Amino acid sequence: MRLSRLFLPTLKENPAEAVIVSHRLMLRAGMIRQHAAGIYNWLPLGTRVLQNIAKIVREEQNFAGAQEIIMPTVQSGELWKESGRYDDYGPEMLRIKDRHERDMLYGPTHEEVVTDIFRNNAKSYRNLPLNLYQIHWKFRDEVRPRFGVMRGREFLMKDAYSFDVDFERSKHSYNQMFVAYLRTFARMGLKAIPMRADSGPIGGDMSHEFIVLAETGESAVFCHKGLLEKPAPENVDYQSNLQAIIDDWTSLYAATEEKHDAAMEAKLGADLVKARGIEVGHIFHFGTKYSAAMKAQIAGPDGQPLTPLMGSYGIGVSRLVGAIIEASHDDAGIIWPEGVAPFRVGIINLKVGDAACDAACTDLYAKFTKAGVDVLYDDRDERAGVKFADNDLIGVPWQIVIGPKGIAKGVVELKRRGSTEKEEISLDAALNKFTAK
Ligand code: ATP
Ligand code: MG
Repeated sequence: MRLSRLFLPTLKENPAEAVIVSHRLMLRAGMIRQHAAGIYNWLPLGTRVLQNIAKIVREEQNFAGAQEIIMPTVQSGELWKESGRYDDYGPEMLRIKDRHERDMLYGPTHEEVVTDIFRNNAKSYRNLPLNLYQIHWKFRDEVRPRFGVMRGREFLMKDAYSFDVDFERSKHSYNQMFVAYLRTFARMGLKAIPMRADSGPIGGDMSHEFIVLAETGESAVFCHKGLLEKPAPENVDYQSNLQAIIDDWTSLYAATEEKHDAAMEAKLGADLVKARGIEVGHIFHFGTKYSAAMKAQIAGPDGQPLTPLMGSYGIGVSRLVGAIIEASHDDAGIIWPEGVAPFRVGIINLKVGDAACDAACTDLYAKFTKAGVDVLYDDRDERAGVKFADNDLIGVPWQIVIGPKGIAKGVVELKRRGSTEKEEISLDAALNKFTAK
């Protein structure tokens, strides 16, 4: 992409409405624009990041054996009357009447819909285990939408739903999602801490929240520092017993403020980390809550009717964009981890109009494009200072700076966003660095 063509409405000043850094930077970097309270337009730069995050989530869900589907955003209220949540959910649910005066709603979550799919289409225990997920928009009429995409009213969520024949199998599905989450967040350059949670209005008997540490997090958290050092599990065989991995991660102390045990302060001493956190994921096991209420029975192995055990597993895909920025930025702007960056490498032409600079830049740009490297070429006729500031603001992880002095010697400057190190390398070396397999 040429920067001169990119629809990138950056802002020089800090927008007054943004109180946290990720919201400020997303507005300044032209990623999002507010449409109404808690409802956002995603502009090209923001859309790229959101899709990169969704891609990682999707790959890890697929590896873990979940199958992607797409459910409607607008749902029938009838299903929610069956589960009993139509009245319970309260004002967070956006209720709509269609032209026939039927009760409809914009889905805040999808347990009812997925249970309805299951009961209408699954026949026997042979359909299990089953885990269906989607990456789709939700609406919750939050009391206080704030912090930009962190607490929106409309937001993108990955929600998965598992169905199993018995508790052991269901626990295994839960463990699969637990491990998938550890891997998912690590691929985004995040340290996410799994924390035992009360399961809230969805109800249940097993639940963990995944919390990213950041100064502006909504809740205070306490944890053993070992949790921050643990690498995510690699080469996981999702069919094998995963309990040892779960036990390993849950054996270290982690608690929210409400559940924090003062005695642990003394016990852990210097090993205790006190921080603030952002919830980026939440997994629940709730057994037969919905399958029983909605009579989602299938034939069991003994021919008798079987009510499957269920779990649901959410990831705040749009919230993650903000969470990643909270965890990775400096005074100049965003520092994207490579896995989610809107572009992997930027080419900065210091002297547009200089024949040698233009030729070197367009040649490198063409070769990157051909090799499938996501490249942003800053071909604007602007001062070097403006270009550096914009490129730092939008946080492309690598910058190749091409100017007349260097080109005369056949070299360019390679910079890593977020570090002060610079390297002079040949044009070929710059090309190879990003195209070599
Ligand atoms: P919270 O306590 O933050 O309101 P929740 O318990 O209501 O979250 P879930 O129903 O478990 O959230 O939703 C799954 C994930 O969706 C959450 O872990 C969070 O990352 C994300 N999420 C929830 N509400 C919002 C929102 N209003 N805006 C953006 N993301 C959200
Ligand atoms: Mg909520």
